[in-house]
Amino acid sequence: MIRNNKNAAGISLWDVMTSYAADPATYIDSQITFVKGDGVVDTARLIIPCNDSNELAWVIVPGVHTVDVCGSFSGLSTGMGGVTLIHEMLHTLGLPEGPPDYTSPQIQQMVVDWCGAQ
Ligand SMILES: [Zn+2]
Repeated sequence: MIRNNKNAAGISLWDVMTSYAADPATYIDSQITFVKGDGVVDTARLIIPCNDSNELAWVIVPGVHTVDVCGSFSGLSTGMGGVTLIHEMLHTLGLPEGPPDYTSPQIQQMVVDWCGAQ
């Protein structure tokens, strides 16, 4: 799935990831910073994403390695927490979201299809 997607410049997300770390687990552990997102303003969209009860976590723009995590994340099953983590990881690698690209639910479904979720 990482190999099948590209950033806005057309570079494979796999190539982006391996420029930072040898494998996805190492990338997540060493390259992504997770911060509390509740109440934080997304200065790109000029909203407070966590105020939307459907928002679980967010990245301000594709390619940024900070993931803001909403309190609603804690209500997820372990499987769906993992799906959401991978979804946000794809954004940190540069995957865009929203038309004409995949929507958030489409990305979530793509991760479920590839990785499964309980
Ligand atoms: Zn997303």
